[in-house]
Amino acid sequence: MSEVSVTKDAATAAGELVALSGVNKHFGALHVLQDINLSISRGEVVVVIGPSGSGKSTLCRTINRLETIDSGSITIDGNPLPDEGKELARLRADVGMVFQSFNLFAHKTVLENVTLGQIKVRRTEKKAAEEKARALLDRVGVGTQADKYPAQLSGGQQQRVAIARALAMEPKVMLFDEPTSALDPEMINEVLDVMRQLAQDGMTMVVVTHEMGFARSAANRVVFMADGRIVEEAAPEQFFSNPRSDRAKDFLSKIL
Ligand code: ADP
Ligand code: MG
Repeated sequence: MSEVSVTKDAATAAGELVALSGVNKHFGALHVLQDINLSISRGEVVVVIGPSGSGKSTLCRTINRLETIDSGSITIDGNPLPDEGKELARLRADVGMVFQSFNLFAHKTVLENVTLGQIKVRRTEKKAAEEKARALLDRVGVGTQADKYPAQLSGGQQQRVAIARALAMEPKVMLFDEPTSALDPEMINEVLDVMRQLAQDGMTMVVVTHEMGFARSAANRVVFMADGRIVEEAAPEQFFSNPRSDRAKDFLSKIL
């Protein structure tokens, strides 16, 4: 059995929720994450931007241990990421993840999608899980869709169900990996509005996105990645008006 009772350090007491320290990861010869140091405070909204292939998705996936790391450490609320087993399942439940492709269970109803994890991982009673699911579906504006199957919903509705499903686990932090990139333009805002509301409610969030309006309005901090490194971090107003690095200047000139 692994020993998981860890002395929480001063940083955690001061509000640090997610900490990556000296994280390195390779895919074969590709050094996809290079000495990543990142500390995220409780309630903070961090937007991660950068060119395609810079390692943004891999960064997200390491935070909930969908990918292993080669060196360095990652802690969530002071606890190091476990390797496997029940501890890992619990940790994953603490870290909600919303993907570009909504990843709902196609053969389960919307309601079942939002109750499944609660029942299986959190051991919530079915009735209580359903009540919570309905409340969350209402909160993201799809309460009337509860008995439908994912394919009967629009992309924007499906993504809001995916957010509700993640929230149902009462995560400590939510990771969003390009949550609006697969959506038709008219559906982007309905998803971003839910995310903005979540941010206002105090959720700790890591958001990979190309939606610079969202970054400006909702982020506390922008992290710019290129070639597996964090090249620059700044408050959004500073980053967008006065990026320091040539890489960031070049990237912004192409997308703004
Ligand atoms: P981003 O999300 O910024 O576009 P990714 O983290 O998806 O970047 O990918 C970073 C690099 O790692 C890319 O070159 C990509 O091809 C590579 N990569 C991602 N996942 C894998 C994998 N499972 N195996 C091998 N290479 C991968
Ligand atoms: Mg990606």
